[in-house]
Order: sequence, then structure tokens, then C-alpha cells
Amino acid sequence: FKNNDYLERLVDELNRNGAGVVVGTLDELINWGRSNSLWSLTFGTSCCAIEFMALGAARYDMARFGFEVTRNSPRQADMIMVLGTITYKMAPVLKRLYDQMAEPKYVVAVGGCTISGGPFVKSYHVVNGIDKIIPVDVFIPGCPPRPEAFYYGMMQLQRKIKVEKFLGGVNRKEKKEE
Ligand code: SF4
Repeated sequence: FKNNDYLERLVDELNRNGAGVVVGTLDELINWGRSNSLWSLTFGTSCCAIEFMALGAARYDMARFGFEVTRNSPRQADMIMVLGTITYKMAPVLKRLYDQMAEPKYVVAVGGCTISGGPFVKSYHVVNGIDKIIPVDVFIPGCPPRPEAFYYGMMQLQRKIKVEKFLGGVNRKEKKEE
């Protein structure tokens, strides 16, 4: 929505006319749609990605939550789900993909490797947490996390989206260049 001039003008006009209630309702409507149709760019590099596959199968059925659609293009994704070990060689690729996604965008870090380096925390080649590269919205710990943990994390992301304001997210904070 950041670059949608028409919608920004519409909200400005509604605000000028004292129509805060309408804007509040519009916020809720848009956030309801966004939080229930999250398309993910899956960035799976190792075993946590295998566990992710269980979510799509019949037993766990992630379609119930509206985030069953995965995309291979950052241009078509609302969030990037990072699953697995991120090496220093891989880090620039992850950053580039994140940069290519349109706002509003979200990052979900899945598993110990992604969150902190996991079992490879003391190795020379693994990034000790992707939050050093891109801003993370939700951390889902585990090695690997159970499908139930995935769902809990994804529901936290949905909750976060539902309280965002229409013009720019209230929770967004850009990662400073290091
Ligand atoms: Fe594999 Fe565990 Fe690392 Fe996930 S956290 S990628 S399961 S070693």
C-alpha cells in the first residue's frame, strides 16, 4: 500500500472529513484480508524446510489458515519464511530477496539455525541469526519446530497484521545497514 497514491488520497480525504470511523473500519477490513491470505516466499536451506512440508499435508492442512500459497518470486510474496541454516555465502542472497519484496512485507525465522545459528553457532561459516541481516517479525524456535509451533508463530503474525494501520505498519522497523 505504501505506493498506492489513490488509496492514500482516499484516506486523506476521509480523515479531512472527520470520517475516522470509516478509516478504522477500512483498516480492519484490509487487515482481515491480508492476515488471512499470506503468501510466502519459502527460503528453505536445510532440515527445517522438510518439516515445513508436513504443514501442507492433510494432517495439518495449512489451507485452514489461508497461508497455503507459496511463491518462488519475491514480487508475489507477502512474507519470507526462512527455514534452515544460513551461511555467510547465502546471506547476501537472502538480503537481496528481502529487498525485492514489496511492502508491506514480513519475515518469519523458523528453527534454531535461522534464529541463532543453532547447532552451528560456533562454526566459522554460519550466520548467528538472520536478524543480523533482515528485520524479523516472528521467531519460531525448535530443531525443527513441530507443526503446532509453526501454526502458533503464524497466528502471532496474523495478530500483528490485524492491528496495523492502513498507511504504513505500526510495527515495521527497517534494519539499519551494518
Ligand atoms: Fe536442521 Fe535443527 Fe537447524 Fe532446523 S534448527 S535446520 S532442524 S539443525
